[in-house]
Amino acid sequence: MRFHTASHLMCAVLPYLVDGCSITADYARLDFVTNDPLSREDIDGRLAALVAASKSVSAETITVEALMANPELIRTMSVNPPMGTGHIRLIRIEDVDLQPCGGTHVACTAEVGAIRVAKIEKKTARTRRVVLGFA
Ligand SMILES: [Zn+2]
Repeated sequence: MRFHTASHLMCAVLPYLVDGCSITADYARLDFVTNDPLSREDIDGRLAALVAASKSVSAETITVEALMANPELIRTMSVNPPMGTGHIRLIRIEDVDLQPCGGTHVACTAEVGAIRVAKIEKKTARTRRVVLGFA
């Protein structure tokens, strides 16, 4: 849950499409579609600021029609939100991030705790892989 919630924070810190992600008990790995140089210190600092700000994390639902009218809400290319029920579950991190997600989250960003970028690597010519670990 901590890393999963942290992956939402990462989406807020790095405003790129996500082309893959893997979250385990030990690390969170996200592949961002970008050629921009990524700074570990910069990402660490912005993540720490979001954790320290103790933003609330909450779930809400909207209709499929509303989601379609706001396609920028769909951040991940590889994961399509479930549309079968006509309603989509959204996860809102206060003032930070809003996106469809069916996962489990901590209630507040402070609960994410101390995390840091363990590794940044060039995965393909157009993607950069960022691995997060506990600090
Ligand atoms: Zn989520």
